[in-house]
Amino acid sequence: TGFVDLRNVRLSYGGASSATLALEDLTISVAKGEFAAVVGPSGCGKSTLMKLATGLIRPNAGTVEVAGHEVDGPVSIAGMAFQNPSMLPWRTTLKNVMLPLEIVQPHRKRLSRERSRYVSLAESLLELVGLKGFGEKYPWQLSGGMQQRANLCRALIHDPALLMLDEPFGALDAFTREELWQVMRDLHAEKQFTTILVTHDLREAVFLADKVFVMSARPGRIIETKDITFARPRP
Ligand code: ADP
Ligand code: ADP
Repeated sequence: TGFVDLRNVRLSYGGASSATLALEDLTISVAKGEFAAVVGPSGCGKSTLMKLATGLIRPNAGTVEVAGHEVDGPVSIAGMAFQNPSMLPWRTTLKNVMLPLEIVQPHRKRLSRERSRYVSLAESLLELVGLKGFGEKYPWQLSGGMQQRANLCRALIHDPALLMLDEPFGALDAFTREELWQVMRDLHAEKQFTTILVTHDLREAVFLADKVFVMSARPGRIIETKDITFARPRP
């Protein structure tokens, strides 16, 4: 068994009369520290898989386990980043990065005790992604690529054991996207969190992941699992 295990999962949306079967008999296993990518056509159920693994929705059949526990609610050890950064415009970048600490128990308690440690952590993450000195800027003062860098910092601020990335580079221009791939590689090499990246960009999956799951069109199933650590140079 791995760090993230979905076994024989079925997920359908809506009531019995108008149900959409999104996932059917889906099984994946991601080991601790591994960087996995899930690729497949639009609408095949990639986001659904992410929501299952983070406990935002429950499967109709099958089991979902993270870190050896059956998932039965939001997974607090997970950090998440999506295609659209959606930072709060009235907060500075630093305060946006620190937001998860304020909303998610049990991080709130720790934040009130150790605020200065978390401010330093936020600043060091911003530096890691190339945003040193931008903590006091507001989101609207940052480019799209810079916002997505800050978004990655926000996903990492509570030192998650699991990082879930849902098309985080999808809205960026090609140059910025490839820059952020390198940033992502460096972050993973340094922090060693287990990562699941959802993307429809095969090149991105091959560049970043140790293991690639290929999904079929809806209802999504895994049609191929490929170990690709041999296929590319490591940083
Ligand atoms: P992907 O991320 O691969 O594009 P999604 O997981 O978002 O796929 O969606 C899988 C399928 O489930 C799609 O057909 C989508 O329209 C449908 N779907 C997703 N979310 C909902 C929802 N909340 N209600 C009904 N259908 C949904
Ligand atoms: P993506 O494919 O990039 O994940 P979508 O545009 O398919 O995003 O979906 C965006 C959001 O809308 C997701 O949270 C998804 O669950 C929801 N969604 C997608 N399809 C449907 C649908 N048919 N009915 C209700 N919600 C949906």
